[in-house]
Amino acid sequence: MVMLYLDVQEYISKKRLEKRADEQYDYTQVDAVFMPIFNRFVVDIAYLHQSVFDPDHVTAVNYASLGHTIAHEIFHGFDSKGVKYNGDGHLMRVLSEQSEQSFNSMTQCVVDEYSRFNMTDSDGKAYNIDGRQTILENLSDLGGMAAVYDAFMNDPDSKKPIPWTPKLKGLTNEQLFFVSFARLWCKAHTEDEFLQPFDDVHSPNRFRILGVLRNFVPFRNAFKCPVNSEYAPEKHCNVYTPQ
Ligand SMILES: [Zn+2]
Repeated sequence: MVMLYLDVQEYISKKRLEKRADEQYDYTQVDAVFMPIFNRFVVDIAYLHQSVFDPDHVTAVNYASLGHTIAHEIFHGFDSKGVKYNGDGHLMRVLSEQSEQSFNSMTQCVVDEYSRFNMTDSDGKAYNIDGRQTILENLSDLGGMAAVYDAFMNDPDSKKPIPWTPKLKGLTNEQLFFVSFARLWCKAHTEDEFLQPFDDVHSPNRFRILGVLRNFVPFRNAFKCPVNSEYAPEKHCNVYTPQ
């Protein structure tokens, strides 16, 4: 009976959302979103600006920017909220008991790690990220990286030499891929904006980069980071990747 009630509620919500999507879509909005009850993601057309996607970019750049955005949205279907919905958008138990235990310990590792990240304001006061408040976005950032890196490495373009330019001289395809991912979140903060990211469900941009890369082994291999440096801790979270 409870499930029937939930299904009816989901059906009503879907109908409302579909109506709203048709009538009120803002074509100037620059965003991307995943909707678990539709099992569908949307990338706004205005999001496809040149710094995110350009057919003339080196392939590594497109994968690391638009590719990561798309993979991030898909991985919302597998974050702590997404795994509670089945493929038809119905709330139900999807994971086995054993998978749920593994999923919970993976999630806890990410919550603990991001909660240790902090930023210091101009008075020297440190502010920690709330790892629980940001968990859905952090999981999607991490899972998205694993998926899009795999996709890029399976693309024959990842084996082609990068055209020589003064700025890219010496970077391998993999290195350019990771640099382009970091560039996606590059932003200068004013003093007033400093505290804003701490109210958000996303981690501050700096930690969206650090958190993903320090847990992703191909990154440290690509740049030969010394073990236990900031970007290559020996103990780290394995997120949607084998132990
Ligand atoms: Zn997201």
